[in-house]
Amino acid sequence: MPFPARATTMLTIDVAAVVANWRRIAAMVAPAEAAAVVKADCYGLGAAHIAPALFAAGCRSFFVATIDEGIRLRRDLPDGAIYVLSGPLPGTEADFAAHRLIPVLNSLPQVAGWTAGGGAACVIHIDTAMNRLGLEQGELERLTSDPQLLGANRPVLIMSHLACADETQSPVNQAQLTAFHRLCGGFAAIRRSLAASSGVFLGPAFHFDMVRPGAALYGLNPTPDHPNPMAQVVRLQGKILQVRDVDSPMTVGYGATHRVARRGRLATVAIGYADGWFRSLGNRGHGVIGGIKVPVAGRVSMDLTSFDVTEVPSALLHPGALVDLIGPTHTADDVAADAGTIGYEILTALGRRHHRRWLSAGEAGA
Ligand SMILES: *Cc1c(COP(=O)(O)O)cnc(C)c1O
Repeated sequence: MPFPARATTMLTIDVAAVVANWRRIAAMVAPAEAAAVVKADCYGLGAAHIAPALFAAGCRSFFVATIDEGIRLRRDLPDGAIYVLSGPLPGTEADFAAHRLIPVLNSLPQVAGWTAGGGAACVIHIDTAMNRLGLEQGELERLTSDPQLLGANRPVLIMSHLACADETQSPVNQAQLTAFHRLCGGFAAIRRSLAASSGVFLGPAFHFDMVRPGAALYGLNPTPDHPNPMAQVVRLQGKILQVRDVDSPMTVGYGATHRVARRGRLATVAIGYADGWFRSLGNRGHGVIGGIKVPVAGRVSMDLTSFDVTEVPSALLHPGALVDLIGPTHTADDVAADAGTIGYEILTALGRRHHRRWLSAGEAGA
């Protein structure tokens, strides 16, 4: 399906590439299981399209952040385990049961609440460095020494989360690995999970029984010190609305922050911070037209960004012509570096105005 003529920005999501990335990780960690983290609507890329494709490829375990995300995902995923990372909020036991969601229990109060509600399959999250969610050592000791606390609960997984997995040399990784081994001791028969995307690449010692990649499935680089081993998933293109000739001493955009230094050309493109094209890209980011890098000129406004297209052949510059904003040679990680953030934020901020298209296996890219 081509994009409609009225589309000003177009987001193409290569679902086959997501599946290929999942298969790659599954092969790397076997016989451990590769789950898929599909929270925040698959990092903004569309869980309704991606999660069923992963299931069809053999993925059987899916992690979301909130109960609402779990309820929505269950509609698209009749089978497959759905784990809710934020755990049960008081009064939500019926939601978990009705939609067959499995809570991650992050604290003793969550354990107690879940037990009081009758207990069922659950995940125990233990904290080994994040100090964000998860039981601490003392809480864990109370849990293992007092069987009543767990009641009829059936822990199916015990997990923790790495704080510095993208820094391979960080001593925190080894410390967390050691702590995880020690703290799991009281739960000998239960499956274990420690690694997210970057943790997968720290080696087999980090794989345990299940890995929980998110970002790597969506093409972000899990090994920031090395070339990206994952296939690219996202292409974002914007249309040129207007091309104008400029010359010194004109200025561009709000605040007149960009001063034109020489005769040249600007293209005004229909993308702005309301689309997740961050305002911090003003005078710093760039797009690509016909393989040529075009710098952002001036501030990014809500709906518009000006690019300096002086170096681009005229034939490529007309209303409706396309600028690559995120693409094969200019990835979400690259945009993030320009914007002073991480690829995760670029993907999850992708705006609601983009026309979206999901490519499955065999469909040609945009
Ligand atoms: C988000 C999240 C993941 C996935 O992390 P990535 O870096 O995107 O692979 C895994 N585990 C937990 C607990 C998370 O919150």
